[in-house]
Amino acid sequence: MKVLITAGASGIGRAMAEAFDAEGADVWVTDVDKKALANLPAHWGAADVDASNEAAMADFFAELEARWGRLDVLCANAGIAGPTAPVEEIALADWQRCVSVNLEGAFLAARYATPIMKTALSGSIVLTSSTAGQYGYPFRAPYAAAKWAVIGLMKTLAMELGPYGIRANAICPGAVEGERMEGVLAREALAKGMTRDAVYQGYASGTSMRSFVTAEDVANMAVFLGSDKARLVSGQVIAVDGHTENPDPKV
Ligand code: NAD
Repeated sequence: MKVLITAGASGIGRAMAEAFDAEGADVWVTDVDKKALANLPAHWGAADVDASNEAAMADFFAELEARWGRLDVLCANAGIAGPTAPVEEIALADWQRCVSVNLEGAFLAARYATPIMKTALSGSIVLTSSTAGQYGYPFRAPYAAAKWAVIGLMKTLAMELGPYGIRANAICPGAVEGERMEGVLAREALAKGMTRDAVYQGYASGTSMRSFVTAEDVANMAVFLGSDKARLVSGQVIAVDGHTENPDPKV
């Protein structure tokens, strides 16, 4: 099985790469963090590609097709948080950069993966959205809008590509433990005059399972969606969030 993961050198993407690798898949990871790319296992493919740069993505997919000749699973995972501010304070340039990586990054990956998958009449596209795309996210309007749009992209891909044996689904992670979330917790603790642990507990208690999510939880869903066990699962939005009970999700 040949698997491409965008933004796969760290965080959720890296966990996805590890999970597919553990299943015996060949994995290729793209990212913009040269240092993180240099620290990946030697048997993985690794390429310095900005997911929102069309020329770079087109060149990369041409190389992938030449080397692999097929692509079984695309995990279009690139995303940035974007500005944290009330909507009236968000600069258009910051809005556009956030939408560009989260939405156009997913579009470009699907755009260039699709012809390769169509040749094989099979494939699975897994887009990383967010619970922000389901519920909204105060002070992160461009992020929430882009993640909601990712779901619209996925639904359309599923309709267009189903007749070619290609499935498309979106995973909506909740608050995932890790570096990115530590930054959110620290900022919120400072703003609210609370401890980091109190903010952490607040997030966890906003879910039915009273828990944060790990990157591995998200990766396990990607592996399932990429496998034949999910052969009739397409067009679905699947939250991996411990069931967000509180309709004010933070990610
Ligand atoms: P992260 O901030 O840890 O970054 C992961 C990787 O993305 C990094 O290696 C970074 O270099 C790379 N990256 C950033 N911009 C890129 C670009 N333009 N092109 C290619 N690579 C790029 O992210 P994460 O927390 O692992 O999140 C991964 C995905 O999951 C994102 O789409 C994010 O929006 C989504 N998500 C994350 C959370 C969370 O709590 N962390 C929750 C819901 C959804």
